[in-house]
Amino acid sequence: MKTKNKIVLAIIIITIIFINKVDLRGKLNYSNESYKQEDKISDENSNLLLVNKSNPISEDYKPNKLVKPKVSFLKDTKDESRHMDEVAANALEELFKCAKKEGIILIGSSAYRSYESQVKIYNENVLERGIDYANKYVAIPGKSEHQTGLSIDVTNKSRCFDKTSIEAQWLANNAHRFGFILRYPEGKEDITGYNYEPWHIRYVGKEHALKIFTDNITLEEYMKMI
Ligand SMILES: [Zn+2]
Repeated sequence: MKTKNKIVLAIIIITIIFINKVDLRGKLNYSNESYKQEDKISDENSNLLLVNKSNPISEDYKPNKLVKPKVSFLKDTKDESRHMDEVAANALEELFKCAKKEGIILIGSSAYRSYESQVKIYNENVLERGIDYANKYVAIPGKSEHQTGLSIDVTNKSRCFDKTSIEAQWLANNAHRFGFILRYPEGKEDITGYNYEPWHIRYVGKEHALKIFTDNITLEEYMKMI
């Protein structure tokens, strides 16, 4: 790596560390006393952990138990990203199995991502495509839901998972049956802070997923209701 690139990378890393320290100090103290994010991770509300641009997750947060769901992944998916929280992994296996029975072939693309991996992805994007691109399309470390182990990006054989594909339509209509929600729906960008992502599903448990699906709301809106 050239010296100039090394210096740029070092500046980026220091900036990220600084931004996240400030964010974590300021924003992990929730005003709602009954729902303290990471303190409650082991109880029945753990599947509702809210991670977004204004609710970062701490650098050292790791899911309770990571396992590899027995589903097919893309060849180039890294080993780490083939892992999920155990409960979510079991639900995902059911989802993929039922989809297959109904003629829909889904493929795992990327599930768990550690804080360190997200730092790497973010920095690579900054170096290759610039900071504006990275900020728009890549989650800043600590602000990616993939760190919870409860999310996965799925795809199809053609790797063209837009809303017109039968796989994306099936997923949008059926994910809740298995406890998953479409985390970044179309038309809710202002609330979630993310562009529409038909491929990103998030495990919240069947009861919550059904309510979120039926009311056509986001996790952000749901957390304010309960
Ligand atoms: Zn995703």
